[in-house]
Amino acid sequence: MSVHLSHAVVETVRREGRKSYPHECCGFLIGRIEDGDARRIARVEPVENAREDEAKHNRYLIAPERFMAVERNARKDGLDVLGFFHSHPDAPARPSAFDVEQAWPWYIYVIVSIEQGEPADMTAWTLQDDRSQFDEVEMKIED
Ligand SMILES: [Zn+2]
Repeated sequence: MSVHLSHAVVETVRREGRKSYPHECCGFLIGRIEDGDARRIARVEPVENAREDEAKHNRYLIAPERFMAVERNARKDGLDVLGFFHSHPDAPARPSAFDVEQAWPWYIYVIVSIEQGEPADMTAWTLQDDRSQFDEVEMKIED
């Protein structure tokens, strides 16, 4: 599996992370699956963090009704929700224990580290089918 992102998509994720700092940002990755299990992200859709303010710095949550609306919209364009992005303010771009608990198999999870307000590393992950841990996914950035 590999995940393919355009520069524009990468920039949007970085911008959202910077904007939300010191809180986490989150949003959807929307695209299609191509030959060889390549996950091509066509666009991203940022969402308001649905958690209470005091928990925002290390937790993110997407409301289920928002998920369904985004999925419906994506399908109109022949696309699917392929995964999610979120930021780690002043923490490495690696899944936390909380991320493992909250994640679903199959989806792609993109994490951007925001160091002192500035975007740093960006990584992509997928949860193993037994939900025990994430595997890093190769990320290809293209025009
Ligand atoms: Zn996280």
